[in-house]
Amino acid sequence: MITHDDHFRDACGVFGIWNHPEAANLAYLGLYALQHRGQESAGIVSVNGSQMCVERGMGMVADVFPKRALRRLKGNRAIGHVRYSTAGDSRLVNAQPLKLDSYRGEMAICHNGNLVNAYLIRSELERRGSIFTSTSDTEIILHLMARSGAQTWEDSLVEALRQVDGAYSLLFQSSDCLIAVRDPRGFRPLSIGKLDGAMILASETCAFDLIGARFVRDVEPGEMVVISERGVESHRPLEQHPPAQCVFEYVYFSRPDSHIFGRGVHEVRKSLGIQLASEAPVKADLVVPVPDSGVAAALGYAQASGIPFEMGLVRNHYVGRTFIEPRQSIRDFGVKIKLNAVRTLIEGKRIVLVDDSIVRGTTSRKIVSMVRAAGAREVHMRISCPPTIGPCYYGIDTPLRSELIAATHSVDEIRKRVRADSLGYLSLQGLQRAVGETHKSFCYACYTDKYPVPFPREDTSQLKLFQKPR
Ligand code: SF4
Repeated sequence: MITHDDHFRDACGVFGIWNHPEAANLAYLGLYALQHRGQESAGIVSVNGSQMCVERGMGMVADVFPKRALRRLKGNRAIGHVRYSTAGDSRLVNAQPLKLDSYRGEMAICHNGNLVNAYLIRSELERRGSIFTSTSDTEIILHLMARSGAQTWEDSLVEALRQVDGAYSLLFQSSDCLIAVRDPRGFRPLSIGKLDGAMILASETCAFDLIGARFVRDVEPGEMVVISERGVESHRPLEQHPPAQCVFEYVYFSRPDSHIFGRGVHEVRKSLGIQLASEAPVKADLVVPVPDSGVAAALGYAQASGIPFEMGLVRNHYVGRTFIEPRQSIRDFGVKIKLNAVRTLIEGKRIVLVDDSIVRGTTSRKIVSMVRAAGAREVHMRISCPPTIGPCYYGIDTPLRSELIAATHSVDEIRKRVRADSLGYLSLQGLQRAVGETHKSFCYACYTDKYPVPFPREDTSQLKLFQKPR
């Protein structure tokens, strides 16, 4: 049996560095800090003079870059990527950064997000003779650039990006420039930092902290930042759209020590818990988070409700993304591989169990029964966001709509399924209040079913490139 987290999975993390003698080593460390954003593959492309060096592989950052691999990555510039597949399957050819030779020289690109019109563009490019080496939507941008007649890298990238739609926080590298772009809606985060004289780019600021870099600012939605010998330039070459930054980055994906979309993630998660306590109060003895992602919201709930907080569930941090049970015949270990309840804390108590989401409901049910088995008198489940009723098409790997329990069940039906004494979700208004929504700048589509960019298929999660839109 293979056990999986019953969570949405993030898609990718990107890291870039310009003008540092230890570029590849720092990119390695930056990717290490972004490992939570993707664990299937990792890669770094460095620039040494006019030559690019590439190291990519399947697995975690520490496995992909042994010392000898890092030694091969020469030069003072680099871009790197960690990946969890959304569009494109999980194979080495899809590991990023992707690199291409063109008549203008070598170029490399890495991307966090999902292009919703990838299939249509790829079909057209193939009809015109392009040969793709991967099934990743990101390669489309390279092909569009290679075909462009524009004079500069910047112009050919802009020409390519004007043809794609969807979510992209991307880094592009040639021998003479490093370019960072966020799509006009700014779905995924991307920040700029500085380290001595070097410029740094990263999906999340936790990567800056690890290497001692200083956070400067976010790349704005629709902004293109070009770093070259001329210095740092900011352009706005893309058609403007209302921003739709992914609110689930706050709820679950980003690391709590990161600062994204203008606020600290831990602080926002705690506000979610505070809001939740006011919307869904309950008489109880103990607030217990589902670790790790439920911790900050549970702290907020405990603070606002006055109910003591305890780490009544302990997580095993040494379990990989998947776990193969040695013998199925022994028993179904299920969620116990990852979590265990602390009986001495829980026994005889009324527990408020705080988690960040219920996706299919199967894991929540197992956790509730684990807490009951440890002697809890009552288990009240509280979720720090609204019911998840739709999949994400913008760079997050989600189950099909039909697999999302809240898409087909009422809150009380879900409560019965997970066998909780009560179940309370944060309202959409509560979520908006907690994230400080004032300018309608977030995407809430997986809670509201109102998608900022239309998607061609209704019954799928991420667009697979060879799936034809209906
Ligand atoms: S649909 Fe949900 S997960 Fe996807 S970008 Fe919007 S808020 Fe984020």
